[in-house]
Amino acid sequence: STLNNEIKVCIVGGGAAGFYSSQYLLKHLPNTQIDVIEKLPVPFGLVRYGVAPDHPEVKNVINTFNKTAQHPNFKYYGNVSLGKEVTLDELRKAYNIVVLSYGSEIDTLLNISGEDKKNFMSAREFVGWYNGTPGLEELNPDLSGEEVILIGNGNVAIDVARILLTPVDILKKTDITEYSIEALSRSKVKKVYMVGRRGPLQAAFTIAELREMLKIPNVQTIWRSADFEGITSDTVTSLPRPKKRITELMLKSLQEAPKASSDDKQFLPIFFRSPIQINGDSQVESIDFSHTVLKNDRAIATNDVEKITGQLVCRSIGYKATSVDPSINFDDKNGRVVNKHGRVLMKDSTEIDKGLYVAGWLGTGPSGVILTTMNNAFQISQTIIDDIKNGELNCDEKKPGFDYSKFRAVTWDDWKKIDEKEVECGKKLDKPREKIVSVDEMLKLI
Ligand code: FAD
Repeated sequence: STLNNEIKVCIVGGGAAGFYSSQYLLKHLPNTQIDVIEKLPVPFGLVRYGVAPDHPEVKNVINTFNKTAQHPNFKYYGNVSLGKEVTLDELRKAYNIVVLSYGSEIDTLLNISGEDKKNFMSAREFVGWYNGTPGLEELNPDLSGEEVILIGNGNVAIDVARILLTPVDILKKTDITEYSIEALSRSKVKKVYMVGRRGPLQAAFTIAELREMLKIPNVQTIWRSADFEGITSDTVTSLPRPKKRITELMLKSLQEAPKASSDDKQFLPIFFRSPIQINGDSQVESIDFSHTVLKNDRAIATNDVEKITGQLVCRSIGYKATSVDPSINFDDKNGRVVNKHGRVLMKDSTEIDKGLYVAGWLGTGPSGVILTTMNNAFQISQTIIDDIKNGELNCDEKKPGFDYSKFRAVTWDDWKKIDEKEVECGKKLDKPREKIVSVDEMLKLI
């Protein structure tokens, strides 16, 4: 294949996967024009709306995304959704290559009754609330109860626990939204339970996040020694290194007598408990958990039941992507686009749908960190380049690209105006930025 024509690429979703794919293709595929379309006016997906406000260093990846956006062959169209303003068929006609990278936005449900009770929500919603995701500013979690239960023990659950337990004076200096600072400063929350179905050796959180929890001023972490029964020094020695270090840290923290002070807040990790019933009239009051045992690394429920009280409950057991356009070959069961190493397959077929690719959480499933997403996006971009070089993908046809001018599309320069305004508002509050939450308000600035 010759590369005489400009290759037109559309990337759907302006999150980490979208930006890393753009970066790689612009660097390694000559003569490429990249258009990124993004549902929201503003870019960066979960880097903006997921990553915790007190982890500004994680958001440094935005510097790299900004560099990519400066490339003359890169264009950004915010406020344009696949499945709403444009269809996949239209994009396929307009571009040589389409990369789907619109992420995973739906939570996995527990599928027990009562998940619709008031103050029972997903951790993703709670995170979206404090991080200013448009549409979630009205979530109004009720923080007037003393106990919170987090179901699931991954890093997102830990993020929520940390935000609930960290002194507001520390959070105030981050880019957390002002309305949530206001709500958190009135919070009565004293105890945060973080409940996992399996044991300490299967805990999903990582050591850095645990270390951080252990260091929050005026917060005691209290483990249950029964959860660690059977974990001997021999068990610990034989663990792979990362597991070994985190288990040692949990054991050390367990053995340290809690620094007793009645004013302290408490972080209470609990293992071997699986939720079976949500109690409460209209608002959640408690959860019944079945005690579990491990069989081949799986949690098996027993008849022992423990009730844990909590007036706010966040479910944090994973996400699922959705299909946003009927032409997408979507695997509903696993919540991802059907693909082989990023090459999307045709519906009901094992054949590759030439020119259509998937990157990021939409293709891999929602796990891993930004670095994992970066590696995935780089790898899929290399696959695209290989497919062109090997003649598997013919890009000789001159494609027109798509005319977004009929929509209220937000350009990169428009986003910069929103960005500047946010930073300016943040300055007055002594924080890095104050996010604009309303889409209308964003659009009014441009
Ligand atoms: P996303 O970042 O979700 O990007 C998808 C983009 O597509 C979004 O901008 C979305 O608005 C857009 N979109 C959706 N639908 C459409 C549509 N129909 N049309 C056009 N655009 C659309 N990783 C770390 O390394 N460190 C952390 O501290 C960290 N914290 C996290 C906290 C939370 C709460 C979560 C959920 C994840 C966290 N991660 C963290 C993981 C990290 O965010 C992911 O690895 C990464 O963001 C996945 O990138 P993505 O591009 O696949 O998805």
